[in-house]
Amino acid sequence: MNKQEVMEQGEKYLLHTYNRYPLVLDHGEGVYLYDSEGKKYLDFCAGIAVFALGYNNKEFNEAIKAQVDRLIHCSNYFYNEPSVEAARKLVEASGMQKVFFTNSGTESIEGALKTALRYAYDRDGWNGHEIIAMNHSFHGRSLGALSVTGNAHYQDPFKPLISGIRFADFNDLESVKAQVTEKTCAIIVEPVQGEGGIYPATEEFLRGLRALCDEKDILLIFDEIQCGMGRTGTMFACQRYGVLPDVMTVAKALGCGVPVGAFLCNEKASALKPGDHGTTYGGNPLVGAAASKVLDLYQSMHIVENVQKVGAYLDQKLTALAEKYEKIVAHRGVGLIHGLEFSIPVGDIIVEAQKRGLILINAGTNILRFVPPLIITEQDVDDMLAILEPVLQELL
Ligand code: PLP
Repeated sequence: MNKQEVMEQGEKYLLHTYNRYPLVLDHGEGVYLYDSEGKKYLDFCAGIAVFALGYNNKEFNEAIKAQVDRLIHCSNYFYNEPSVEAARKLVEASGMQKVFFTNSGTESIEGALKTALRYAYDRDGWNGHEIIAMNHSFHGRSLGALSVTGNAHYQDPFKPLISGIRFADFNDLESVKAQVTEKTCAIIVEPVQGEGGIYPATEEFLRGLRALCDEKDILLIFDEIQCGMGRTGTMFACQRYGVLPDVMTVAKALGCGVPVGAFLCNEKASALKPGDHGTTYGGNPLVGAAASKVLDLYQSMHIVENVQKVGAYLDQKLTALAEKYEKIVAHRGVGLIHGLEFSIPVGDIIVEAQKRGLILINAGTNILRFVPPLIITEQDVDDMLAILEPVLQELL
């Protein structure tokens, strides 16, 4: 099929839940993507914060291929070594204690919410507990994850969602405290709000939440699906703050394109018992091999160190850019997750950058989001700006 045919057939057969850009992507190499007509794009999207290791990493590909020839799936009635290995590496990297593998971020959130409800049910012997979530958060599209997503646009058509969810303001401890009742069993928060506009939490806020949860026996859930796995310059964002949650959710870069997520619990929050939760595919040997190899490559490729170094460079460059243009009203970010907030919608900037060979995405209407592969170099940042700046000069 040529490009036009792929797009036409896509519109004909795929449910129209996305307004897709007119690009058919074909292959990738390092920090570059290539479309079906051979055009090259510098990628500052990484499949929405997924492809940390860059495209076509041979060692990663070989590990997956070897597992395909060995055993792809066997069900959770049995043990398999790749997933046990991946779980051990996740535990060692995170400081958490137990892992449940899922197939996506949203399913990791489902598991975290069920963990909190189960914990409180065991403790109190009654149900009807409440969970506090944040305004402008994003936790996924399943009904449970959507229930804790503080965005009316996503929620409204699907109401009523699960009951007992109360919303507070991010980075405002007093607003969280105001929502605590004797029924509260969990507080869920992204250490860096991603889809909501790239808002890093303050250390004071996360430490305050930890103290509040300890005082009231509430489980603290950190959603690290977008901001975890090295993106902020530590393996998990919570480690930047020196605050460990009771439950942590991960996905995206954990599989670097292979669909795998997880929720991780400390000993106290390991409340789910045999029969409480399950998934046919979750943690099968194929995704286990992928996650295990990703975690190895993070070490051997010094991913976290690279994020610290290149993240500081990107931060400095975006700060300078924000100072130069009046229509850039804010710059926020940490490591290799950044947002530039404009006083106008950023759709045209994204489309124009794309025409010139740069892939960027938004977070909300007015925010340009930078979540590149974690292997990028300072030269890649310069190359990105060499495309973006002329676009801004023309459009702002
Ligand atoms: N939580 C956060 C913070 C996310 O950014 C996302 C996806 O963007 C999700 C949850 C949902 O993950 P998934 O799309 O893999 O279901």
